[in-house]
Amino acid sequence: MVAIQTGLTPNEMERESGVGRAADHLGLIAIGVFAAMLYAVFEVVTVVQGLSVYFNTISILSISVFSQMLINRSKDAETQLARINRSLEDQVAYRTAQLQLSYEDLLSENAIRRQTEQKLKDSETRYRTMFENTGMATIIVEADGAIILANREFCRLSGYSLDDLAGRKTLMHFLSEEDEARIRRLELPRAANTEAAPPHMEAQLQGRDGTRVQVLLTTARIPESSRTLVSFSDVSELKKAQETIKFQAFYDLQTGLPNKALFLDHLKMAMVRHKSRTGYRYAVVAVNIDRFKLTVDSLGHGVELQLLELFSGILRDATRPVDTVARIGTGEFAILLDDVGEPGGPVWLVQKIQKRLQAPFRLGSEEVFVSASFGLVTNCEDYHQAEHVLRDADMAMLSAKEAGKGRFAVYDRTMHEQAVRLLQMENDLRRALDKKELKVHYQPIVACDTRRLVGFEALARWEHPEWGLIHPDAFIPVAEDSGLIVEIGHWVLHEACLQLRRIHQSQPGADGLFMSVNLSGRQLGHPEIEDQTRRVLNDSGLDPHRLKLEITESVVMSDPEAVIDLLGRFKRMGVRLGIDDFGTGYSSLSYLQKFPVDTLKVDRSFVSRMDPHHPENQKIVEIIITLAHSLGLGVIAEGVETSEQQSILSFLRCQFAQGFLFSHPMDRPAMEALVSSPGPIFC
Ligand code: C2E
Ligand code: MG
Ligand code: MG
Repeated sequence: MVAIQTGLTPNEMERESGVGRAADHLGLIAIGVFAAMLYAVFEVVTVVQGLSVYFNTISILSISVFSQMLINRSKDAETQLARINRSLEDQVAYRTAQLQLSYEDLLSENAIRRQTEQKLKDSETRYRTMFENTGMATIIVEADGAIILANREFCRLSGYSLDDLAGRKTLMHFLSEEDEARIRRLELPRAANTEAAPPHMEAQLQGRDGTRVQVLLTTARIPESSRTLVSFSDVSELKKAQETIKFQAFYDLQTGLPNKALFLDHLKMAMVRHKSRTGYRYAVVAVNIDRFKLTVDSLGHGVELQLLELFSGILRDATRPVDTVARIGTGEFAILLDDVGEPGGPVWLVQKIQKRLQAPFRLGSEEVFVSASFGLVTNCEDYHQAEHVLRDADMAMLSAKEAGKGRFAVYDRTMHEQAVRLLQMENDLRRALDKKELKVHYQPIVACDTRRLVGFEALARWEHPEWGLIHPDAFIPVAEDSGLIVEIGHWVLHEACLQLRRIHQSQPGADGLFMSVNLSGRQLGHPEIEDQTRRVLNDSGLDPHRLKLEITESVVMSDPEAVIDLLGRFKRMGVRLGIDDFGTGYSSLSYLQKFPVDTLKVDRSFVSRMDPHHPENQKIVEIIITLAHSLGLGVIAEGVETSEQQSILSFLRCQFAQGFLFSHPMDRPAMEALVSSPGPIFC
């Protein structure tokens, strides 16, 4: 506040204006009356006596005093008036200032009110914009669920216009009875009054046309009001994605069958039933499509789905709805037979499937016969873990496959013992290299017509401290499975190359001999195989042309395109290449032309069946030899045991032969002795 100065104290102001002035007037009247009385006395005295001079003087003096006093008084009054005037002016100024201030206050109050209004307006615009553009359908509801306000997104989602909604519909109108009940349980309309109300729930929002949209309903209490903000996010796409993820977690996308996880889950439940219900039994069948990859690769990947669909259809048709048919691997399936009454049930099922498989599959434009191997676990007594049941069914299936495809085997304990033995072997094999238990034996390869020695095949042997000499057929698969084959194969290659190089150097005229070394599928897939081979050739100093790498036909055909590439790189290194066990791996002619190989090695099984009394058996060998000739490749026949076989092979113009007829694989000293012997010719 501004201080206003008037020049008068409040008392002065009071006196000037009231009581003080009345006193002054009374004084003046008294002096005036006194002077008048003196004058009257003077008039009387003048008439009566000669005292008139004194009276005259006194009267005049009194009058002059009175006049002077009057003058003074009027001056005072003037001064007072001036002061009062000033005071009034000050008061006017003070009041004016006060008025001015009040006016300014009024003005600023107005401004503040206007600002507040503007702010409110801005805020409302902001919140309305936010309300409209949250990206979510949003409504504001009263405590009883009545809709007060809805945004455009909500109109879009519900199919109603703004006019249809506000004040006309309640939140419950859009929800199913079930959701409504849930919302009531959650006390959603009263969310404003309870902090404990959960902020969101999943619900289905029913639109005007009856369609239901899966939404995530979120509530937010509006402070100091009974209203609630309810937002709906359309989560139908998310739900679909979740469903797909859930489906993928438990089902195979290609066949729509349960996957391994779901199968094991069903199996666990069957195991629980077996324990709790007397007489309840289950059985598990592992099914594996024979030569699945080969079939798919040779017919093109487009047929894979077709094959899987047809095959799974057969499995489904052959089983009951209570059974579980699952796809647990590429060409692998598993069947859980629920509540199998008779013990022969699973076998009967397998036979039923096998019968269906007798009819050819139409895959693309081809008709193909598909076979499968089956492994059965029928005795469910000893199992506590679902994985073990499946493992044993798998083991039985593998044993059926090994016995020749298209068969079934029932799991028994010996299979388990066999598996344990293999595990033991793997452990021992890991140490075999360090302990120098591995050896390389060499089997001579001869020219068919002259019987002259032309080379050797390096064959691995394992001198096991307890089990004696183990042949590669027993330990190479274990080495393959464990990955040890990479190390073992490298060692054999190194030994064989070094040995041949020694022979080349020590035996005059032996430098034309070559060395065949077997390469496994696992080695071929190893990223360092090329470098390893190059290093071995460098270290040994062997002419690359004297090394021949043998790869079995089934390995070559397992991934023909990749193998063609790798073989090409070997070829550029100067190494020669041969396809081993030819005739068993189902090479397609188109691929055969593309493989950059030098020789085909006729599989022993075909050679051993040749005899002069059954000329039809030599037909296959004849075809392979003719094929090799027409492709410009050399041919070796392996497993030649009789001179008749050798004669036929010579007749068929097979160039090279290898077999017990000439020599068994031999150790290093024997091989050196052979090379140094004159000839060397095998008679
Ligand atoms: P393969 O490469 O086809 O070798 C020929 C097999 O036939 C050898 O068996 C050999 O001893 C046998 N054999 C040769 N002539 C006759 C015969 O007249 N009659 C009979 N009954 N058998 C004959 P082996 O040494 O037991 O080798 C078996 C297989 O093990 C080999 O078949 C080869 O695939 C694999 N293998 C051997 N050594 C190695 C190796 O160092 N690395 C790899 N990856 N595999 C090897
Ligand atoms: Mg071989
Ligand atoms: Mg062979």
